[in-house]
Amino acid sequence: MLFPTEFDVIVVGGGHAGTEAALASARMGQKTLLLTHNIETLGQMSCNPSIGGIGKGHLVKEVDAMGGAMAIATDEAGIQFRILNSSKGPAVRATRAQADRILYKQAIRSRLENQPNLWLFQQAVDDLMVEGDRVVGAVTQVGIQFRGRAVVLTAGTFLDGKIHVGLNNYAAGRAGDPPAVSLSARLKELKLPQGRLKTGTPPRIDGRSIDFSRLAEQPGDLDPVPVFSVLGNTAMHPRQVPCWVTHTNARTHDVIRGGLDRSPMYTGVIEGVGPRYCPSIEDKIHRFADKESHQIFLEPEGLTTNEFYPNGISTSLPFDVQLELVRSMVGLENAHILRPGYAIEYDYFDPRGLRASLETRAIQGLFFAGQINGTTGYEEAAAQGMLAGLNAALQTQGREAWTPRRDEAYLGVLVDDLITQGVAEPYRMFTSRAEFRLSLREDNADMRLTEIGRKLGCVSDRQWQMFEEKREAVSREIERLKSTWVSPRLIADAESERVLGKAIEREYNLADLLRRPNVDYQKLMTMQSIDGKKFTAEQTLPDAVREQIEIQLKYAGYIDRQAKEVERHEHFENLKLPPELDYMQVKALSMEVRQKLNKHQPETLGQASRIAGVTPAAISLLLVHLKKGG
Ligand code: FAD
Repeated sequence: MLFPTEFDVIVVGGGHAGTEAALASARMGQKTLLLTHNIETLGQMSCNPSIGGIGKGHLVKEVDAMGGAMAIATDEAGIQFRILNSSKGPAVRATRAQADRILYKQAIRSRLENQPNLWLFQQAVDDLMVEGDRVVGAVTQVGIQFRGRAVVLTAGTFLDGKIHVGLNNYAAGRAGDPPAVSLSARLKELKLPQGRLKTGTPPRIDGRSIDFSRLAEQPGDLDPVPVFSVLGNTAMHPRQVPCWVTHTNARTHDVIRGGLDRSPMYTGVIEGVGPRYCPSIEDKIHRFADKESHQIFLEPEGLTTNEFYPNGISTSLPFDVQLELVRSMVGLENAHILRPGYAIEYDYFDPRGLRASLETRAIQGLFFAGQINGTTGYEEAAAQGMLAGLNAALQTQGREAWTPRRDEAYLGVLVDDLITQGVAEPYRMFTSRAEFRLSLREDNADMRLTEIGRKLGCVSDRQWQMFEEKREAVSREIERLKSTWVSPRLIADAESERVLGKAIEREYNLADLLRRPNVDYQKLMTMQSIDGKKFTAEQTLPDAVREQIEIQLKYAGYIDRQAKEVERHEHFENLKLPPELDYMQVKALSMEVRQKLNKHQPETLGQASRIAGVTPAAISLLLVHLKKGG
């Protein structure tokens, strides 16, 4: 049966990628359908109840800067917020929040239900409709056909998903949800390059069985409580609660070692490669054999549940081993496990088969986003989802794709890494992956991206107005600081010592004074001249404006240097490679490089340079070839 309405964009999967994709496409004005297994699981966190962290928080802020939902939903659901690396430079500072799972799902669902141009429909998708080399729709489990001009597939860990607990295993998309078996088979038929990966999750614990009196408490940042979204505020946050800390010990490690003969990972039952940076506890014990203890955070899953998430003991060991290892830790001696930990294996698709827009090279109009591209993490999924949704919408509007550069956004780094290098293990974001990380900070995500988002059509009037006001306030105040001069004649020595640490010996402007290491904006504004004059702005400035002014002035030297580097790099980076170029004819290149370039068909010289095995020398030869018009 053909559904009577035809859509511009169909999104399959209502996880973190799918929800952002659907929202982005609908915000762009395109008629969008979100098809998912179960409306109750929209925005569900499959694993840890937290959003953000180093590198990941940067992605969340970028999604937010382009009008996405993850940051604001976290503001409505966050029960503990922290700024990580707060004592380090602004490039590596990152926001992280524990989220109440139920509130998070509600926040996402209410945005989806109230988004104009967006339709929701609950059904498993079993098939894609393909005509020639173009996707034209999706078919559900009961045979309903939905026609669409572009399809974004965000099936997460569900494609041919298989759950392992010890040597037992069964087919599932994640615990409690069905796998997507027919769709997986159909994608294999379409000959999209694929592989197997795995990830895992810890057992969950009933808080009533935890002895908190024996655990160290870890509160969030309370003064002030951080906020994720540019549209968010602390009044949106629910009640804030602490996390708790315990540790593994020699007994825990013995229990784990004793269970390895029934571990699906160590007996070869699991074929997929797991995430290096989120290893299972059995992996950690094995890899760091000399470490006597690992810290385990007990994170509350919400305000209306007793469930706790023990962060750090993801495992697929048999249940009896899980119980014993949990109970070997201080405070958990009588722990009751509510849900067993498990590993899941699933299909992913080699992201080298994607364009920078996240459209598959093989099938026009078919976009992939999220875990299906070999990444791990809600934030990585959300960022890709937003990009794929935007680009699907742009394509159906007959507009050019938006492909963020590496110097523009972590999203650009993420996609470029995926499509040029592929993945050998689940990929997660780190600040160290970005060569221009000084320019790619959380605090300037809006300065980098909101104007682009507005031009593309995915930033609301309200967000745009707030952004313009902020940008204007920052530049106005920086100008004022640069043009307000203070001299030793105006300021008593004792006053400059109080504010600046030492008396000023000549005339300075306020911007110069603010650049000094121990001076912050707030403090500078308390300075008084001999005749009682203060140097404050006409209006009190919001925290985000003050922060931006401080960073822009204090780090101006580094930021300018990086901007110059970006400029130098940009020309070659963005040099488009002719799509029809047959690299086998570029005889100056080694056979290995020619084969690699022919296989990957990079879109730009920058992408070519990041393909493993393509050396800087090969890039120079290629450049010569292009200059000769070859
Ligand atoms: P998902 O969140 O998996 O969402 C997929 C959505 O698609 C679901 O709503 C599903 O119902 C729907 N769907 C799938 N197939 C179909 C179909 N055929 N028809 C209709 N709907 C469909 N990340 C970390 O960062 N660290 C971790 O330690 C970690 N551990 C994890 C452990 C487990 C057991 C699992 C399951 C995931 C873990 N993750 C972890 C990964 C994290 O959950 C994902 O990265 C993130 O949820 C991916 O988002 P997504 O939108 O791509 O997919």
